[in-house]
Amino acid sequence: DAFRNLQPRSQDKLKGETLIMSQPVQNLVIVGGGTAGWMSAVYLRKALDKNIQITLVESSDVTTIGVGEATFSTIKLFFDYLGLQEHEWMPKCNASYKTAIKFNNWNTQGQHFYHPFQRYETVNGFDIAEWWLKIKRDEEPFDYACFLIPSICDHKKSPRYLDGTVFDDKVKDLISREFIPEKNVLSDHKVQYPYAYHFDANLLARFLKDYAKQRGVKHVIDHVENVKLAEDGSIDSIITREHGNVSGDLFVDCTGFRGLLINEALDEPFNYFSDSLLCDRAIAMQIPTDIKKDGINPFTAATALSSGWVWNIPLYGRDGTGYVYCSAFLSEEEAEQEFRQHLGPAALNCKAKHIKIRVGRNRNSWVKNCVAIGLASGFVEPLESTGIFFIQHGIEELVSHFPDKTFNEELIKSYNNTIAECIDGVRDFLTLHYCASDRTDTPFWKATKQEIKIPEQLNEKLRLWKTRLPNNKNVNHNYHGFDSYSYSVMLLGLNYLPESSLPALNHIDEREAIAVFNSIKQKANHLAATLPSQYEYLTYVIKS
Ligand code: FAD
Repeated sequence: DAFRNLQPRSQDKLKGETLIMSQPVQNLVIVGGGTAGWMSAVYLRKALDKNIQITLVESSDVTTIGVGEATFSTIKLFFDYLGLQEHEWMPKCNASYKTAIKFNNWNTQGQHFYHPFQRYETVNGFDIAEWWLKIKRDEEPFDYACFLIPSICDHKKSPRYLDGTVFDDKVKDLISREFIPEKNVLSDHKVQYPYAYHFDANLLARFLKDYAKQRGVKHVIDHVENVKLAEDGSIDSIITREHGNVSGDLFVDCTGFRGLLINEALDEPFNYFSDSLLCDRAIAMQIPTDIKKDGINPFTAATALSSGWVWNIPLYGRDGTGYVYCSAFLSEEEAEQEFRQHLGPAALNCKAKHIKIRVGRNRNSWVKNCVAIGLASGFVEPLESTGIFFIQHGIEELVSHFPDKTFNEELIKSYNNTIAECIDGVRDFLTLHYCASDRTDTPFWKATKQEIKIPEQLNEKLRLWKTRLPNNKNVNHNYHGFDSYSYSVMLLGLNYLPESSLPALNHIDEREAIAVFNSIKQKANHLAATLPSQYEYLTYVIKS
């Protein structure tokens, strides 16, 4: 697909149409050298390997955001596409494995639950979670009953054995690697991978920079002071402090929340999601850890506090942590105080970085000859680690929508719809985290029930879930990474339970479901007993 759009259109024999001479894009300029800039550079260099010059311009005066360290399982496909093995990049980025997100205190009971990178088994045509509602709901938490991963997480295990085998290959009969929709990441990889990664964002940017430069990406360190527009309103060139004008055919705006090209120069409006997602600030911190003594958790934690939630991302040698909160309920000082209290003595000498977050998306992420990727395109709070997923999705869609110099309007429209559907789909899913939680103990948590606007599609999904209508299976046809299993996990975890189990299950013998629950238990115990710890795996296998 990547190459189809690059074929010279002069070769096309379009019925009855004037032959259009194609004018291929020859000069692509990326502005910004954060995760978005360097991921774009390496990926585009690999996908478009001839007849195109790629230049990346980054300022040494504007620092990168420096957070964004937990990922979504599709990231594995990004590294696979670049031909990078885990042992080649993980040690250089202090990376670790992530098999789930652990949600703490998101419901009034203060319970925890896992959202794992693992799909439900199907028993007699119904998700095992439906069977849990029928025969196990008063017996044991759904995540431990339905998945293997919670046990791996509790025991701080690696998802790989020392010989490199991934845990689910050892217990294959139990795991269905479900195919995800056609319109997804790289076409030869249509599986849900059972893990993602945590990594140091700055080290990853450095690693990708070296990789891109070795493969011919031109790197200019300079500050962009101005943007020169052409008569038709597209970008003619960027004006840098020391290198003068840098012109291009296509510009990729990776300048972060500022959106230097897309918002400032091209005036594209940014649509905020503040009516459904209230958090607008973050405090980030890095805390050294003793991994030899304490091990490394193979999950990201998201712990609810008074006016938002705290992320904890365990890397090889330190944790990345941060409090995402709503400034209408807490000042910077109050937030930092509450955050430090939560972290305890481990954070005593650690510096806090306060960040204003721009939550929402551009009306259009592609305007004229400029495509925004990363924070310049859109952002939602990192509750499901989607920032880097948005980057990957944006780049992949850019490759499959790659233009020539005519900048076909239909192509641009299709790209913009795809990006908007993805980001809006994630907004809906995150809104569910708040509105389906039963917490109302602070003004913030009250507001998440009384003040937020529940997007229409989400409202419909919640109604179907409660009333047990069957279309809760097809929660959304647009691709945004979260399908029905994720919705079900969050709703069960938040105790947003339907009143009854599915009536159909009263007419099906439940012995098979009971056997599957028993088998899950056995396999989980086996994995916990036989997998190496994550510390052991990373230390002895990846680092050696
Ligand atoms: P930045 O890192 O801000 O980079 C901007 C670049 O533009 C810099 O190189 C800068 O020098 C350059 N620039 C700016 N102005 C100029 C100029 N005038 N001239 C030249 N260059 C310029 N994502 C996840 O996937 N998982 C997470 O857990 C996660 N957590 C997050 C937590 C927070 C609080 C935030 C804010 C984001 C988080 N994200 C997360 C998102 C993730 O951090 C970003 O998607 C990712 O880092 C990409 O950032 P970026 O490259 O778009 O922008």
